[in-house]
Amino acid sequence: MTKHVLVVGDGVMGRCTAYFAARKGHRVTVVERNAPDHDGCSFHNAGMVSPSHIIPLASPGMIAYALKTIWNPESPFWLKPRLDPDLISWGLLFHRASTKARVERAAPLLRDLNLESRRLFEELARGAGESYGLITNGTLMLCETPKGLDSERHEAEHAQRIGVEAKVLSAREVEELEPDISLTTIGGVHYPQDAQVVPAKFMSFMGEKLREAGVETLFSTKVTGWSRKNGAIAAVRTSAGEIAADEFVVAGGSWSPEVVRDLDIRLPLQAGKGYSLTLKSPKAMPRRGLIFREARLAVTPMMGTLRIGGTMEIAGFDERVNPARVRGIIKSATRVLTDFVPADFEGIEPWMGLRPLSPDGLPYVGKFARFPNLWAATGHAMLGLSLGPITGKLMAEMLSGEPPSIPTQLLAPDRYS
Ligand SMILES: Cc1cc2nc3c(=O)[nH]c(=O)nc-3n(C[C@H](O)[C@H](O)[C@H](O)COP(=O)(O)OP(=O)(O)OC[C@H]3O[C@@H](n4cnc5c(N)ncnc54)[C@H](O)[C@@H]3O)c2cc1C
Repeated sequence: MTKHVLVVGDGVMGRCTAYFAARKGHRVTVVERNAPDHDGCSFHNAGMVSPSHIIPLASPGMIAYALKTIWNPESPFWLKPRLDPDLISWGLLFHRASTKARVERAAPLLRDLNLESRRLFEELARGAGESYGLITNGTLMLCETPKGLDSERHEAEHAQRIGVEAKVLSAREVEELEPDISLTTIGGVHYPQDAQVVPAKFMSFMGEKLREAGVETLFSTKVTGWSRKNGAIAAVRTSAGEIAADEFVVAGGSWSPEVVRDLDIRLPLQAGKGYSLTLKSPKAMPRRGLIFREARLAVTPMMGTLRIGGTMEIAGFDERVNPARVRGIIKSATRVLTDFVPADFEGIEPWMGLRPLSPDGLPYVGKFARFPNLWAATGHAMLGLSLGPITGKLMAEMLSGEPPSIPTQLLAPDRYS
C-alpha cells in the first residue's frame, strides 16, 4: 500500500530516505526550515564512505583521550564544560556505552551497514557517471608514532576477524601507494573497501533524483510541533501551517531532539562541531582518502580539490568558527602533509558542521514505540554520509511494512526511554 511519507530535514538522511521511499512508490514530502541553497553538515564534510569504521565513537579509551586533550585550545577534541542536564546525562550514557562488549556488539552491524551503503553508492553512481566523484581505492589510516601504529594494527586485526579487508603497511609501502604526495608517517593500514565522494555533489545528485521522482520539498518551512489523533501522529505543525501525512520521519540532524520535544520523547543527542578547509589548487594530491590517526585529520581528494577535515567540539549549538581549532587543523595538516605550508591555507574560509552524536555511537533508525507512525533517521555522528544510502533503504523497507534487510534492533530510536 502506498502512503504519504513526510520527512523532516533535507540533509543526507532526509534526501536518502525520501529517495528510497519514493522508489517504493510512496508519495513523499520533505520539510526543511532553511532556503533551497542551504548548507549544513551533509554538504562539505570529509566525504569518506567508511566500511573500515567498525568501532563506534563510544569506545574504551575515548574518555581518557578526551580528558587528556580537553585543555589544549588547538586540540582535535573539545568539550565545553557546562551544567546542562542533557549534556550530563548524555555523558553518562556515553561512559556506559564505552565498553569492549558494546564495541564487539556494534562492530558487525556497522560493518554490514557500511558495506551495503558503499555498494549503494556504486549502484547509484552507475547511472550518474562522474557526477559525484566516487573514488573506490580505499582509505589509508596513517600513524606517526609506534603506539599509534600498534593500536591501528590491533584495529585492523579486529576488522579482518569480522570480514573487513585491511592490510598493515610499512612507511615504504605507504609511499608506493601514494607516490604523488609527501607524508609524515611510520606506516599505517590500507582499507581497500573504503571509498570517497564529493558530498555537495552527492547531495545535488540526490536532489535531482528527488525532483525526477516527484518528491516535493518545502523549503523555508520549520517544523514547530505535532498534532495527534487516536494515539498516532496526524500532522506536523510548521511555520507554513499544518501538513497531514500517513508516516513521519525525523531526520533533523543535531536538532532532532528539539523537533520531537513537544511529544515528550527522549532522544539523547549532542552536536559535535567539526571543520573542513578545502584547497582549490593543491600542490600535491593523494590518490585516495587519508586519515591521520594521531592528528585526527581526514584528507580527501575531491575532483581536483583537496579537503582537510577535523575536530570534534561538543559545545552545544554554537555555530561560530573557533580560530584556535582552525589553527590546530592547519598546524597538524602541515606537519603530516609536508608539501604544504601554513601560507597555503591563507584566505580559505573554514566551513563548519554539527554532527548529530548519539551516546553509544550508533544511529537512531526505526520507529518510536509510542507512536505507530513516527520514525527516526538521525544520530549518525561521523558516519552520516557513509550511512546515508543504507539508512534510506532500511527506512523505505520499514515504511513499506517489510522487514529491514539488515536487523535494526540496536538502532531503536527509543532505546534510552
Ligand atoms: C567536519 C566534518 C567531517 C565529516 N566527515 C564525514 C565523512 O567523511 N563521512 C561521513 O560519513 N560523515 C562525515 N561527517 C558527518 C556527516 O556530515 C553527518 O553525520 C551527516 O551530514 C548528518 O546528516 P543529517 O541528514 O542527519 O543532518 P543534517 O545534514 O544536519 O540535516 C538535518 C536537516 O534538518 C533540518 N532541520 C532541523 N530542524 C528542523 C525543523 N524543526 N524543521 C525543518 N527542518 C529542520 C536542518 O536545517 C538540516 O538541513 C562529517 C561531519 C563534519 C562536521
